[in-house]
Amino acid sequence: MAYFPEGMPAPSPNFDDREFWRHCDDRELRFQCCAACGNARHPPSPVCPKCRSLQAKWQAVQGEGKVFSFTVIHHASHEAVKPNLPYVVAVVTFDDLPGVRLVSNVTDIPPSAVHIGMRVKLWWDEISDGHCLPRFRASGPKNER
Ligand SMILES: [Zn+2]
Repeated sequence: MAYFPEGMPAPSPNFDDREFWRHCDDRELRFQCCAACGNARHPPSPVCPKCRSLQAKWQAVQGEGKVFSFTVIHHASHEAVKPNLPYVVAVVTFDDLPGVRLVSNVTDIPPSAVHIGMRVKLWWDEISDGHCLPRFRASGPKNER
């Protein structure tokens, strides 16, 4: 069952990020990296901001990382999120791809227990029609404040 109830709007992939979402549907979290200088970037874009190369590759991450920042949502911005209030929107960084930050949710934990530096692990939320979104749960005893 999806984290948010039916009716939650799904991503609308565009020319730049459709590859990112396609990998998500395959339950692979991959980020765009410059094929010339290796710079990782997210969200995807057609040009490397460091070296201006137009060549890119998609690098997979294992999905383990930590909370860089977060907020607790108490007011519904859409009818579909009301049953989940309050919920956490977090910026997550990854152990194996420094420089990339992903906005997602930390689930299955009271929002008051979430903190910056908290270790998290990826899980795949199948939202509809085989489409999947990356979300995160607390992981392991390595949590640090
Ligand atoms: Zn580059």
